[in-house]
Amino acid sequence: MKTIGLIGGMSWESTMPYYRQINEVVKSTLGGLNSARIVLYSVNFHDIERLQRVGAWDEAGEAMAAAATALRAAGAECVVLCTNTMHRVSEDIERAVDIPLLHIADPTAEAAKKLGIKTIGLLGTAFTMEQAFYRERLESLHGLNVLVPDALDREQVHRIIYDELCKGHVLPESREIYRAVMRRLVEQGAEAIILGCTEISLLVSGDDATVPLLDTTHLHATAAAHYALAST
Ligand code: GLU
Repeated sequence: MKTIGLIGGMSWESTMPYYRQINEVVKSTLGGLNSARIVLYSVNFHDIERLQRVGAWDEAGEAMAAAATALRAAGAECVVLCTNTMHRVSEDIERAVDIPLLHIADPTAEAAKKLGIKTIGLLGTAFTMEQAFYRERLESLHGLNVLVPDALDREQVHRIIYDELCKGHVLPESREIYRAVMRRLVEQGAEAIILGCTEISLLVSGDDATVPLLDTTHLHATAAAHYALAST
């Protein structure tokens, strides 16, 4: 079994499910007392969030590259960046280490394709919904047609992530807002919706929409576990 390197803490509320879900796959595959080999580099999100907010992506990329380098030195054989947003700087990580970065959008797109989905809604931070790095990978590499909410809905989705979910606050009124946003995406033609922020599955689940919800945390963690086990 390979050793998985997690870059976490963005936020720590969503890093915990990664640890649990990776171990659950290893347990159900190997049984007994088997558990995943994991090295975790957990950042202070206070610092990273500031870099995001001011658009200091070069500096953010350096921080992620340094984390990946430390994981490599600690024995990690792949890198799993436990946030969609920070894949904005995935190339900085790939340049820094000679072990693979398991990109969060890939298992997500594969799950969509397996369901026969062509048009998919995307929820996430404003960075993920509005900048090219995430949508382009889904569209150019995987051939999906991506829909994002309108400006007002994007603002609410983003605010709830940073002001509530990243702080561990899961509020019923925010769940209602997400339900309404997802309903509008379905009305526009979304056949499924990507929960493209690793905290969103703390707030909504399958019952909250009429189309399949693709939880990036779960899909990414599962893909990481399968990658580690493939060499067993
Ligand atoms: N965890 C979130 C994501 O998946 C948002 C926090 C961050 O900006 O890293 O995008």
